[in-house]
Amino acid sequence: MRKYFVFLLILAAFFFFTSPGFALKVSQQTFQRRLKEEKLQTKLVSFEARPFEVFTDQNLPDSMKLRIKKIIEGAAKSVGAHFGYYPSGTAQLKLLQGSAYDSIDDPDLATSGFYQNKKIRMLFDYKQAKQSLTEFEVVFRHEYTHLIIASIDGGKTPRWLHEGLAVYEERGLRAESTVRGGHFIRP
Ligand SMILES: [Zn+2]
Repeated sequence: MRKYFVFLLILAAFFFFTSPGFALKVSQQTFQRRLKEEKLQTKLVSFEARPFEVFTDQNLPDSMKLRIKKIIEGAAKSVGAHFGYYPSGTAQLKLLQGSAYDSIDDPDLATSGFYQNKKIRMLFDYKQAKQSLTEFEVVFRHEYTHLIIASIDGGKTPRWLHEGLAVYEERGLRAESTVRGGHFIRP
């Protein structure tokens, strides 16, 4: 009798998650966000900060580019040393302002950065550069950890461990942060 009940429960869950309505809603939203991101991509300018090509929606002052470069190189060194991994190719980092970022972020999660498909996207306010750079370092270390794990684990690391390690690596130079909300790895 109990077996029968469990079987029914599994069957109900299966039909819920595979029902056309559910699948359609999820895929449509993801599809729309991808489309927006592709459109946005054509308007971005970029500069190099190894191992990244950094995309922004306006040209940043050289002094800011230099500081971003230093933070990226420092994080790549220190997080890389913990995992013994340094990417050989070039990865993509997009720094987007408010509405541009929100248009490609999942509204249900409302994050300040996310890693997906070998690319890091981060919310970055150019006008408040000083504050943004402090937050930038914390969020970048977090997302960069996701990138490293995803590059070496073949997709086998459970999500809780992914997040735990990423949060652990946020500490580096700064022990505390004022970063908005959670940020997640997305399949
Ligand atoms: Zn995360």
